[in-house]
Amino acid sequence: MKYYDKLIFEVSREGRTGYSLPENRYPAHEEIPASLRRESKLLLPEASEPDVVRHYTNLSQMNFGVDTGFYPLGSCTMKYNPKINEEVASLPGFSGLHPLVHAGLAKGALKVYQEMNKALAAITGMYAFTFDPCAGAHGELTGLMIMRQYHMNRGDYGRTKVIVPDSAHGTNPASAAVCGLQVVEVKSLPNGRIDVEALKALLDDSIAGIMMTNPNTLGLFETEIETIAKLVHDAGGLLYYDGANMNPLMGVVRPGDMGFDIMHLNLHKTFSTPHGGGGPGSGPVGVAQRLEDCLPDITVSGFHGNFGVILKAYAYILSLGRQNLRKVGEYSVLNANYIKESLKDLYKLPIDGVCKHEFVYDGLINDGGHDDVHGATTLDIAKRLLDYGFHAPTIYFPLLFHQALMIEPTETESKETLDAFIEVMRKIAAEAAQDPAILQGAPHNAPISRPDETAAARNPILKYQDTL
Ligand SMILES: *Cc1c(COP(=O)(O)O)cnc(C)c1O
Repeated sequence: MKYYDKLIFEVSREGRTGYSLPENRYPAHEEIPASLRRESKLLLPEASEPDVVRHYTNLSQMNFGVDTGFYPLGSCTMKYNPKINEEVASLPGFSGLHPLVHAGLAKGALKVYQEMNKALAAITGMYAFTFDPCAGAHGELTGLMIMRQYHMNRGDYGRTKVIVPDSAHGTNPASAAVCGLQVVEVKSLPNGRIDVEALKALLDDSIAGIMMTNPNTLGLFETEIETIAKLVHDAGGLLYYDGANMNPLMGVVRPGDMGFDIMHLNLHKTFSTPHGGGGPGSGPVGVAQRLEDCLPDITVSGFHGNFGVILKAYAYILSLGRQNLRKVGEYSVLNANYIKESLKDLYKLPIDGVCKHEFVYDGLINDGGHDDVHGATTLDIAKRLLDYGFHAPTIYFPLLFHQALMIEPTETESKETLDAFIEVMRKIAAEAAQDPAILQGAPHNAPISRPDETAAARNPILKYQDTL
């Protein structure tokens, strides 16, 4: 442990301060009355200014962020977010706007909503958007409520089930359940795509619709999408598109043209807002023209969503323009395929072929295990990456494989960064083959090694305890 990894309470010395103020600053009549004053001293650390600055600076460096290194977290696009968009969002004319201001004084902001509606409609092939939802999952819930409303408006009350593929993001079945719909799972084929025959068997007049991600969470494009759309529509259902990660498709193909009726986008993944840590996010929901009536006429959030996030997305779309939005799609696909092909001699690739923005390995080909002793697992690989200065990919998701390692490099990483990552992944594979214990004990040089992640989330210790 480095000296400054110590908690500030341990560095604290009685009477030490980081300021100097004159004694008796206030005349007696301005003093807080004695009856309102504390009787005992507040338990706060006492430290000099440099100690405090070092404490917070060191704390900030104990975390890993996209501003400190490569972050190939599949299905969650933690990409570079142009800093200039933060400046745009903090322009006082926007950031100082009160949500209850008279519409006549908010014309600029209203224009942004209007322009964003047009831009997202052009990118996705939807007809109109609501910007109220504040997250992807919130958008899913709103979209499913729209789906239900559509059927109810037609007097069709028996449609209570929604089909969700087994590769879906966990929020999909969760949102359906929260919306009061029953989830029916459809299996994937060995090639990672929806089993169309299995889907046919599920379709009847109890189905409200299907939720799909395309490319799916394996990074694979559902090549049968037109057939699927026809089947679901013929059975009276609707198609919901999970557009959390729209980056591989932008400017290339549109969900609206594939036959989707409702969708959400995660502006905080694809359109220039950093995410993680719980927000703020934005999950606008778009619908096809025949569903326009079903868009919520009361807001599903406080006011109209997270306006700052919408502004950043607007600045991002305008600064890239049509040509460069297409490049986002092309580069995200190129980068993912580059890594996938460069490591498939060492890591198991369960489904070969061209992927979109992400792909999934199923652990190591040679994990160093022998006889009954198992070798290095996906968790061990992920932990060892931290030692080499890379954030881990998403692990153990999707649930289709036992050792899933889901890599998404994103469109904004240089070839040098991708090569450095590939080199490290090769090094780790060699270590596993020779001595898997190196991986099993990793990370060796992170501030903490292997916390109990469940306990850390369920029972966090948020205040100083000198028993630590
Ligand atoms: C991130 C993600 C979501 C959920 O978005 P949140 O903003 O975290 O609620 C849904 N689906 C997919 C495919 C995602 O990657």
